[in-house]
Amino acid sequence: MACERLKGRKAIVTGAGSGIGAAVAARLRAEGAQVLTCDLKGEVDHLADVAAQGASADLVARAVVAMGGLDTLVPCAGISAFTPLEGHEDAYFERVFAVNVFAVFRLVRDAVPLLKAAGNGRIVTIGSTTSSFGDEGLAAYAASKHAVLGLTKAIAAELGPFGVTATCVQPGAIDTPMTAPAFTEMPEYKTFWENKASLRRLGEPQDIADVVAFLCSDDARFVTGHGLWVDGGAMARH
Ligand code: NAP
Repeated sequence: MACERLKGRKAIVTGAGSGIGAAVAARLRAEGAQVLTCDLKGEVDHLADVAAQGASADLVARAVVAMGGLDTLVPCAGISAFTPLEGHEDAYFERVFAVNVFAVFRLVRDAVPLLKAAGNGRIVTIGSTTSSFGDEGLAAYAASKHAVLGLTKAIAAELGPFGVTATCVQPGAIDTPMTAPAFTEMPEYKTFWENKASLRRLGEPQDIADVVAFLCSDDARFVTGHGLWVDGGAMARH
């Protein structure tokens, strides 16, 4: 890609072995960024459970060794499943929060000195349209994604004076390995989301990655503390 809008950026992308995270890592690299990728599996630089104790500090330390610094975080790792409320075991709820919220918080916290030093840090969290509404079977997931949006706003407020922006991208229904089982088991659910979007289609990981790249760039220097639906217009329709 000719555009080198992200040249000089040093980024961590988690969940980069699949779906949205993989597309984000590829897009950031295509625009000139150095990227350290992490996932439980897949073709990434570092295999790790982002929810494990010490994982984020380790990742930040690796970034410094590999890239000589760190100024951009895109924590994409996330988990989701449809479970009725009465089937929400404590361990399930805790795991969803550990991966979707706690790991994001820890990564940002452990990178704060580097982000402040960079002077133009970028944090793009991945919420969901369920950061803005609830749905059947998604109690833990929707609660966790509301938390990610709130966390992002608080980070933006606290790190803004250091030139760091924090934005929460809220994807609609995106065709990835995360959603594939639900769309296969419940084709009506897939049709619902295709029809709910003003653009009348599911999203692709690239639809999200392109927006994340913009938010990581200097073009988005005055955008922060913001939840952004990237959902083909689904949330804007009844
Ligand atoms: P995906 O294809 O399943 O990718 C997520 C990746 O994160 C997977 O490789 C997953 O590994 C990995 N991961 C999960 N837990 C991890 C952990 N503890 N440590 C390290 N890596 C871990 O899903 P996706 O659709 O691209 O989702 C990416 C993000 O977008 C998530 O935060 C998701 O909540 C969010 N999102 C997705 C949609 C959608 O419609 N797809 C909509 C809104 C928001 P495993 O496969 O082994 O779990």
